[in-house]
This record gives sequence, structure tokens and C-alpha cells, in this order.
Amino acid sequence: MATEARYEMLWDCPRCETPKLLGLTHRHCPNCGGAQDPTKRYFPKEEDKVAVGDHPYVGADKACPNCETPNAAAAEFCVNCGSPIDDAKAVALRSEQVAAGRQFTEDSARNAREDLEAQRRPPPPPPPKKGGGGKALIVGALVLAIGLIVCTGLGALLFWKRESGVTVAGHTWAREIAIERYQAVSDTAWKDQLPSGARGVSCTQAERSTQKVADGQDCAMVRVDKGDGSFSEQEKCTTKYREEPVYDDKCSYVSDRWKAARTERAGGAAMTDTPRWPAVALACTGTTLGCEREGSRKETYTVSFTADDGKALGCDVEQAKWSTLPVGSTWKAPIGVLSGAIDCGALSPI
Ligand SMILES: [Zn+2]
Ligand SMILES: [Zn+2]
Repeated sequence: MATEARYEMLWDCPRCETPKLLGLTHRHCPNCGGAQDPTKRYFPKEEDKVAVGDHPYVGADKACPNCETPNAAAAEFCVNCGSPIDDAKAVALRSEQVAAGRQFTEDSARNAREDLEAQRRPPPPPPPKKGGGGKALIVGALVLAIGLIVCTGLGALLFWKRESGVTVAGHTWAREIAIERYQAVSDTAWKDQLPSGARGVSCTQAERSTQKVADGQDCAMVRVDKGDGSFSEQEKCTTKYREEPVYDDKCSYVSDRWKAARTERAGGAAMTDTPRWPAVALACTGTTLGCEREGSRKETYTVSFTADDGKALGCDVEQAKWSTLPVGSTWKAPIGVLSGAIDCGALSPI
């Protein structure tokens, strides 16, 4: 550890009011003999600073459990009353004093007392809001309750259904097959993610991510109470960081791959028009430019109904269900009051 500059803390004699006594040197008031009160040590002004010579630092003082007199950490018996102080508590330390700019603000025994009181005080509970927190709470609860009722009501309205008789009016079906073609496709990718076989590659720098970069230091002089009547002065620094973009090669390229090219469709408007897949004519087969293959398939079966009130309704169902609803058959079905949608999953015989 680097040797740090050490100076005497100051204290004012509470008995005869002699100010600026030295924390380390004057264990008792040289004027009246009164014992030093370690809780009243304060940092000196720049011009009152007294350097501690070779006095070795052995640790923060221990307060005598009997008479409160501060004793050196190495002491076994109180210099004032002779009580054993083996396991006595260390004296309270002043909070670090951080220089504002280049100067330390003026300190005093009074500051020391306030600092100590602040350290001992339990953290204050959050202050109640002005104008009666209780009232605000009740209003909040009320707003919440009303909100809940409105939401529930709206929700209920949304899902509110009425039973209606419906008659099957017709059927439609549609089947689709996506056709993919093996072709040259232009795309972009980071250089390390280019697909194999990429050609016509052309890259430019682009921001890919960011990283934290050290950007100098924030430094301040700090005074640290050593607890034995002295304090050290040291410069404390923390590293500052800034975000910096990380650039990488972003490349445009061309590669040969399968890509959706067209869709073959078949459809019918009656149950008697048996659903079938569209005929597919591929340009050629194999993984060669211009050749094609079948992609995903999709099928939709729609039943249309006429409700008792004459409204036309419809819904998509599984093919198995679709074929069990002949035209002219009648059913009971829940119908959304707001949406007007028929729930085909809940058809029941009349
Ligand atoms: Zn005195
Ligand atoms: Zn004592």
C-alpha cells in the first residue's frame, strides 16, 4: 500500500472550550485536563492541518466501556480509569469527507456530532404524501374497483352469447400448395454468417453492437478518519465508461436457394364437389436453377349458415366436421351478441 499522508483530527474541549486540540497528540485537554471525546473529532481547515510524523497507525481507538475515554487500539487497560478494554468497541468514525473541487469544506465539532447522529439514526420511513395519504389510497382503490367492474363488464359483453337456430346454407373448400423455385436470391448477412456458396459478395462497415470502453477517471481528494485521532488524505478515482459502436462487415450477396415462387389452388362451392389437391406441374425437378418443388400445403373448409333471424353466418371447420353438415340441416349454435360470430365448435342438434 502506498504511504498516505496522515494528519491530526481536531477536537474542541467541551469543558474549557479550548478549540482545535490535536486528536492524536492531545488525548487530554492541555488546558484543563479534560478527556478527549472521540465523537467530537473533526477535520481541520487546510491551514490548520498538522501532519502526523512517524506515529505508527495501530487501528481505530477503542472507547473505554466504563468511562468512554478513547484508548489506542493496542491498549489493554483504560488510560483514564484502568478498566480492561480488550473487547471494547472501536470509536465511531467520521464519514469520508470528499473535496468539492480542490477545497474541503469547513468542518467543526458540531458537524461531527450531526454526522454521528445521522449514522446512528435508522433510515427514516418514506414520508406520507401531502394532503392525507389515506384519502389517496381510498381513491386509488375505488378507481381500481371501478376499472375492474368496467373491464369485467366489457369482457362479459365481448363473450356474451345467445343461442340461435341455424340452417346450413352451403359449403366451400379451398386447397393450396406453395411451389418453391430453386433460384438466385439477393440478401444481406454479417460476413461471419454468409451461407456457403454465397457469390457477388460486397461488404461495407456497419454498426453491429456496442461495447463499454474506459474513458478516463473521475478523481477526488478524500479524507478518511482513521479513528485514532488522525485522518489520511488520499485521491480516490473511479473509471468512467462510455458506449462505443462495434463495426463489422455487412455483406450483400447472391446465393442459390429454394424460395416461394407461386401457389397452386383448387376450390369448390359444394359438398358434392369432392375436395382435391390442385394439379401441380413443376418446371423441372432436382436442385438446379429454375427447377421447382412442392412446399407447404393449406386447406380450408367453410360452412355457411342462415340464422333464424335471416342473418348469414359462416365458419371454418375441420374437413371431417364439414362433411357431416348437409345443406338444409338445422342446428342450435351460440352466437356472439357483439361479434355476431357463430361458434361452430358448439353446434348441437335441435
Ligand atoms: Zn479543556
Ligand atoms: Zn476508562
